[in-house]
Amino acid sequence: MARVESIARADGRMAGGERAAAPAVLDVSLGAIVANYRVLAGQAPRSRAAAVVKADGYGLGAVAVARALMAAGCRSFFVATPAEGLALRAELPDPDIFVLDGLVAGHEDAILGAGLIPVLGSVPEVAAYQALATAAGRLLPAALHFDTGMNRLGFDHAETVAVLADRGMLAGLDIRLVMSHLACADTPEHRLNARQARAFAEIAAAFPGVPASLANSAGCFLGPDYHFDLLRPGIALYGGHPLASGANPVEPVVRLTATVLQVRNAQAGATVGYGATHHLARDSRLATIGCGYADGIRRSIQNANAPAPYALIHGQKAPLVGRISMDLIVADVTDLPPASVQRGTEAVLIGDGITIDDLAARAGTISYEILTGLGARLPRRYTQDRIG
Ligand SMILES: *Cc1c(COP(=O)(O)O)cnc(C)c1O
Repeated sequence: MARVESIARADGRMAGGERAAAPAVLDVSLGAIVANYRVLAGQAPRSRAAAVVKADGYGLGAVAVARALMAAGCRSFFVATPAEGLALRAELPDPDIFVLDGLVAGHEDAILGAGLIPVLGSVPEVAAYQALATAAGRLLPAALHFDTGMNRLGFDHAETVAVLADRGMLAGLDIRLVMSHLACADTPEHRLNARQARAFAEIAAAFPGVPASLANSAGCFLGPDYHFDLLRPGIALYGGHPLASGANPVEPVVRLTATVLQVRNAQAGATVGYGATHHLARDSRLATIGCGYADGIRRSIQNANAPAPYALIHGQKAPLVGRISMDLIVADVTDLPPASVQRGTEAVLIGDGITIDDLAARAGTISYEILTGLGARLPRRYTQDRIG
């Protein structure tokens, strides 16, 4: 029956121990996420740590992540969109939920109705929110985002000067947080970091008693000048390396395993997969694994400039050969003991030493894009156990 239930769960979310009715499953270690949260918070003992759970918790499930972090003491969460805020609020009545996209036009009712806190970043946006406050006849909670070098969201320089000079521009708002965002925090020696920290310190000083927030994951590692009152990490909670170099200070969170659907023999000279790009130099045994680019294993991890990526089968490396298909990947298992690879054997595609940063480097991207690209059809199986 457990099997049938897990088929019926349209959102693919599973409790630990439940069996997946899919050939590929994503194990998500909530224990590792909490451990990573503590590592990040430990960088700044005098600050509080929020958690960024946008894009459904970087693809891992915002509600499950937020619940685990609340149990560890986290009280503030950041999402990108009002819809993400609504989904989180439906499960979590208590914490502060900040919407980084702000007062998205057309979504005002959702923001007010769910008690979300929009992160406002322009004078017209403030004016629109003030009109809502007037109509509601009460102060409305808001965060203010001041741009200090990103040029993406947030009050620009002229608006910042104007707002600091005339606090009347913020009438009707209950300011809960002032924030800015670092552009180059993963590169500690970059000159822009200190410039942004100095500019933001001046802004934060103009709002005494209001918590200030600057540091994303990488910013947590830049020292006390970057910590302010509230840390705002995302990627490092989920195991991604927050810095461009050095050892990863956080532990892996996800393991992607998939079932071998078929083992076949193929002769020297034959080719494998679409485009017949891989030529077999010897008689080979091939294992076809039920996982593909629709699950987030990108075609681009196969490239001519790097050694072949591999799956782990009973801890042994099996090179992936030929193009990755939508639902299937072929591994060369010729060098593995025949009895160890059969229909139904499990192959590890992420985890046990294969990191999201490894896959990102192969694919020419960043771990954020690997995590958020993990397929919606992968059941997420939550566990407290750590991922190797
Ligand atoms: C995504 C985001 C974060 C988290 O960044 P990480 O690099 O994932 O830690 C923090 N603040 C803002 C404004 C963001 O958009």
